[in-house]
Amino acid sequence: MNTDVWGGTVGARFGRDARGPIAGLLIAALVSLACAGGGLAEPEAERPGADPSAASPGPSTTRADSTTSVAEFEQDVADAQAVAERYWAAQFKKSGQRFQPIRRITPYQRAGEVSCGGQPLPRNNAVYCSQGDFIAYDVAWSVAAFRQVGDAFVFYLLGHEYAHAIQVRLGINYRFTIQQELQADCMAGAFLGDSVRSRALTLAEGDLDEFREGVAAVGDDPDQPWFAEGAHGTAEQRTDMFFRGYEGSLKECDLG
Ligand SMILES: [Zn+2]
Repeated sequence: MNTDVWGGTVGARFGRDARGPIAGLLIAALVSLACAGGGLAEPEAERPGADPSAASPGPSTTRADSTTSVAEFEQDVADAQAVAERYWAAQFKKSGQRFQPIRRITPYQRAGEVSCGGQPLPRNNAVYCSQGDFIAYDVAWSVAAFRQVGDAFVFYLLGHEYAHAIQVRLGINYRFTIQQELQADCMAGAFLGDSVRSRALTLAEGDLDEFREGVAAVGDDPDQPWFAEGAHGTAEQRTDMFFRGYEGSLKECDLG
């Protein structure tokens, strides 16, 4: 992948209102690769403790989109993680199950700095790694996407990757990648919609549009066969599943 396009001129070239094939393709790479190192092996032995319901932080609020520093991005990642842990802990509790949060979220800056199941993660990637039960992301690249699309996209991306961790915990393993991916989009939507309804998350003006733009932007290339390994779904399919989950919660995702 050409990393130059993610350089310092990203904002000018692909402002958050940018449309067109280039912006779409760049972000498509983001989530197409997002699951490349994942796989659906059983998680490793669960770590003890870390009850996410023990802490009771106030509601998380997405900020206005003029805030685009790395520190703000990292705060959004932390907020998204906290809201996701509280949400999934509550869902598991309803079913009488104990929820185990993922082990960690690991930012990285160099290719090979983090490995998943013995496979070094490349630059320009974000992934849920089932073998180590963690999410890892290339900082510079993720921040560029955050600046391009807006802060709500961080919550969607984290929600999507976290959904893969939930699929592993529930032993869900569809035959085709696209089924696994569209369910993860639906679960990300359910997590975000339910969190807004419960006031765990407050959206800023424009965030719903950001979800819509962001999810649509990560659709597969129209030439991608639906059954291909790595297929995530078209923009229309992904948007549809995300908002089905967002509006109707987990029952729309073959869950709950
Ligand atoms: Zn995925």
